[in-house]
Amino acid sequence: MIPAKFDYLAPSSVQEALSALAEHGDEAKILAGGQSLLPVLRMRLNAPELIIDLGKIESLRGVRDDGDAIVIGAMTPHAVIGSDPLVGEHAALIHKAVEHLADAQIRHRGTFGGALAHADPAGDLGAPALALGAQFVIAGSGGTRTVEADDFFVGLFETAIGEDEILTEVRVPKHTGWGASYEKFVRVAHQWPIVAVAAAVKADGGTISEARVGLTNMGSTPLRARAVEEALVGQPATEDGVRDAAGKAADGANPPSDLNGDADYRRHLATVLTRRAVLAAAGA
Ligand SMILES: Cc1cc2nc3c(=O)[nH]c(=O)nc-3n(C[C@H](O)[C@H](O)[C@H](O)COP(=O)(O)OP(=O)(O)OC[C@H]3O[C@@H](n4cnc5c(N)ncnc54)[C@H](O)[C@@H]3O)c2cc1C
Repeated sequence: MIPAKFDYLAPSSVQEALSALAEHGDEAKILAGGQSLLPVLRMRLNAPELIIDLGKIESLRGVRDDGDAIVIGAMTPHAVIGSDPLVGEHAALIHKAVEHLADAQIRHRGTFGGALAHADPAGDLGAPALALGAQFVIAGSGGTRTVEADDFFVGLFETAIGEDEILTEVRVPKHTGWGASYEKFVRVAHQWPIVAVAAAVKADGGTISEARVGLTNMGSTPLRARAVEEALVGQPATEDGVRDAAGKAADGANPPSDLNGDADYRRHLATVLTRRAVLAAAGA
């Protein structure tokens, strides 16, 4: 289907984009890579009067080092993140997740900020961002505010970004030296996961000293598997050592049932994928 008619604006600064948002309110929509928004427009699930394309705002692109964190610009394409050495060294979990995200064409167009702002519970980037304790920098007419990962994902396709605000960058605390793995279970290649598990593990001498585990598509938002994280500390990085902890992966989760699998199937998958992800992250 062809989208409904809309006006198009391509501002060259965040300030200009914010002014347009303030003027047009909920009749305006931000465009990043378009990989989720354009299908929505083509299906006429949304018909904004104005599209504000962030593509010309150079300050929103790129990855930089900022002391104890790396900062990823909202408009940085997935493909750039997947080959960025800073991300590889300090946030390997995001690197691993991007490797599994869609196909090469979508990774070239789609952006880090667009995927996180879209907040699809099956999206591959939410769980790694949550697990690593990312901070989301959001600009509005009143200035800039920072939202912790735990408060960013509010509900199904819903985040803490207000209608008159723009996600500008994401700060990811450095996890240098941590092992990482993203285990994604799909029915069809290059698609969203039925369930996926993001694990970052710090192991000293074969014993797990710290772990961070995020779950994809196990609820209406990405989830942190805190019971698993706590149970892993002090365990040997072996099959036997992680099995009991991984068995807690679905504790407190409320996974959906759909044509790809019912909730119980997803709960089981979460435990299996958690075991695999933790072992791979620990290099076992
Ligand atoms: C065939 C196909 C397969 C895919 N497979 C996967 C997959 O396996 N895993 C996966 O994770 N994703 C997958 N995707 C989605 C892909 O990751 C998209 O890149 C992503 O969801 C949206 O990013 P985008 O930059 O294209 O955002 P857009 O589509 O441009 O925008 C998405 C939404 O976010 C809002 N938005 C965008 N940027 C901002 C911002 N800076 N501030 C505020 N609001 C903003 C927009 O208004 C819109 O509502 C797939 C997409 C397609 C078409």
